Amino acid sequence: MSETLTVPEVETTAPEPGPKRLFIKTYGCQMNVYDSERMADVLRPLGYAPTDTAENADFIILNTCHIREKAAEKVYSELGKLRLMKEARAAAGAGAMTIAVAGCVAQAEGEEIMRRQPAVDIVVGPQAYHQLPELLTRTARARGERIGADFAPHEKFDAMPAVRGVEGPAAFLTVQEGCDKFCSFCVVPYTRGAEWSRPVADVLAEARGLAEQGVREVTLLGQNVNAYDGAGPDGAVWTLAKLARALAGAPGIDRIRYTTSHPNDMSDDLIAAHGELEALMPYLHLPVQSGSDRILRAMNRKHGRAKYIDLIGRVREARPDIAISGDFIIGFPGETDRDFEDTMGLVREVGYASAFSFLYSPRPGTPAATMGVQVPADVALARLHALQALLLEQQSAFNRAQAGRTLDVLFEKKGRHGRQAIGRSPYLQSVHVEDADHLIGRIVPVRIEHGQQNSLKGRLADTSLKQPRSASAASGNQNGA
Ligand code: SF4
Repeated sequence: MSETLTVPEVETTAPEPGPKRLFIKTYGCQMNVYDSERMADVLRPLGYAPTDTAENADFIILNTCHIREKAAEKVYSELGKLRLMKEARAAAGAGAMTIAVAGCVAQAEGEEIMRRQPAVDIVVGPQAYHQLPELLTRTARARGERIGADFAPHEKFDAMPAVRGVEGPAAFLTVQEGCDKFCSFCVVPYTRGAEWSRPVADVLAEARGLAEQGVREVTLLGQNVNAYDGAGPDGAVWTLAKLARALAGAPGIDRIRYTTSHPNDMSDDLIAAHGELEALMPYLHLPVQSGSDRILRAMNRKHGRAKYIDLIGRVREARPDIAISGDFIIGFPGETDRDFEDTMGLVREVGYASAFSFLYSPRPGTPAATMGVQVPADVALARLHALQALLLEQQSAFNRAQAGRTLDVLFEKKGRHGRQAIGRSPYLQSVHVEDADHLIGRIVPVRIEHGQQNSLKGRLADTSLKQPRSASAASGNQNGA
């Protein structure tokens, strides 16, 4: 084996133009050559194009082989040279160089490599090459660099006007951006960057501004909103639950919602808040994506089926009437009939009030996009239809079960017919009520008459809220005269 660093004999398709250079040195067998190609493939969407010298590379991978004697010592010798190169580059201010060790030596001696050669940033075994984008992005973030996102989120919020114009009594309020979860099908960690939370004071100020414009309900937004950890005015880090408690006491804000959440960030205090805060609406959107542990692992979700079901049980203990919503991806690479049945079983066990379900489609740059076994399109579609039929059945049953109840409805807009108004129940259902257009912007009790697949119909429960038709007709006559 040559001691000089040479370009691997890897045939790749034409690289997308990108500012970053990737050098892979491949040792050993054809299997490693193949793996080097795959590594180049998964890194190409991040803007890495192959280069033929280590000296000008931004990212160097030694794809190692353990079969020959003293293989590990040769790798350490190579790493010694790379360390000098890395230091020289840093001293020249030419940007960071990332060094990874892959292959069998990495698998066998991962911890030892990191201990003996601190210049190594990443050690990745042969079964984890699909995680290279995640590992590389984490390494860049640890150095304070951002991959795929061109400016920090706080700059965006700083540059936006302090007062927003809003229409209607319900508004979104972004409190968090980015994601550190790296689900294998999702581009968000690369495009939006690391999880970042707005300071509490900024969120409360925006909520006050919204309330002054007549907003009664705020939906706190974030790619991982329940990972919220904003700086509080008291110098402490505030959780989403603590933020919700502060907002619940803010004048004018009567309703709080939040979306989208990750099961791993569903903390005890947030679950407790659902039982304690009247303003926190009894609705939780908690995506699970699959009911199969095997697929959840391939998705890199970092939670299993049992944990998700346990969380739902705990949330329901805190707030028994809570409406659960979810997200599902059907036809993820490698999904078998058995995996799909696990998903159907989970849906039956949880019982959803609403849900979003999608066919898997590869997103360039994500590890799943290069996963081998794709599910045939007709099979995936048939599974999606079966899942959606079950979810719609559950949604209809949940809506029908509201008949006869009196629910507080926040009226948001006029309906299509006459003086009809449309509002939202606490469970986020759309509620249609006749003769209620004078109540837009108010929260009023509505007697639910029946529930349909996508909405509820009801009538005003409090007679004092009803505006006589004659009054409106009289007013119309005056206007006309
Ligand atoms: S699916 Fe959600 S949790 Fe997973 S990486 Fe994307 S934004 Fe993050």
